[in-house]
Amino acid sequence: MRLPVLLIAAVVSACVSSSDALARPIWAPTIDNPYCAITTFVLPDLSEQAMSTVDADERPVIVINGLTVRQTRAYANFLMAHECCHHTLGHVANVHRRLGQLGPQPFFYIAPQLKGMELEADCCAVRMLKFKNEPESIEAGRLAMSQFGSSPTGAHYPTGDERADNIAACAAKD
Ligand SMILES: [Zn+2]
Repeated sequence: MRLPVLLIAAVVSACVSSSDALARPIWAPTIDNPYCAITTFVLPDLSEQAMSTVDADERPVIVINGLTVRQTRAYANFLMAHECCHHTLGHVANVHRRLGQLGPQPFFYIAPQLKGMELEADCCAVRMLKFKNEPESIEAGRLAMSQFGSSPTGAHYPTGDERADNIAACAAKD
């Protein structure tokens, strides 16, 4: 997940150019997301692999990188489940609301919670993928995170090792 400010910027630069455009629906193809009923857009040149936000009408949306969908479908499934979890666990709504209330440097206040939210969404995704009987998607997520090693998986995010270990631990649980 990326924070809504970044998401909106990314969506604007990728999809629309005029400042009133956010009042209109995002123009992009959608993909069938088997893990939740949230509209999931596919963007060919998204800078992130996936993200969650709300649209101009405050409806939850997910955006996923088109290249990831085409090249590594099992990992794309992990990401879609992970983004669904950010919505169902209330992360997106909470961050969106809090960013609206905070003054300058809102990231400073939210950063400590981002780590926990990522680990929570990963574990929730694992549960969902287990339920759907998709061990290959869980493993694709674990492997992708492990490749970051001791580096953070994003600004203010847990390290790759932390996320890979967390995914494995969640997968081992009943
Ligand atoms: Zn996330």
